[in-house]
Amino acid sequence: MILKYEYDPLDTEDARGHFYHVCQGRVQETELPIPPPDRPYECPHCGIELEQEDFLLAQQRGWA
Ligand SMILES: [Zn+2]
Repeated sequence: MILKYEYDPLDTEDARGHFYHVCQGRVQETELPIPPPDRPYECPHCGIELEQEDFLLAQQRGWA
């Protein structure tokens, strides 16, 4: 698991939910925005690249 998705139905300000990178087994506290298709987010700690499709997958399943 590299990405966690949380959606709070009561959170009306951001109905798109929240994404968190799971870095080496630990969920990070910093929320990540969905990156553009051609610019994946590269984690400076574990070096993994989080692509837009990973975020969309996490949005469907709750994780990716
Ligand atoms: Zn990482």
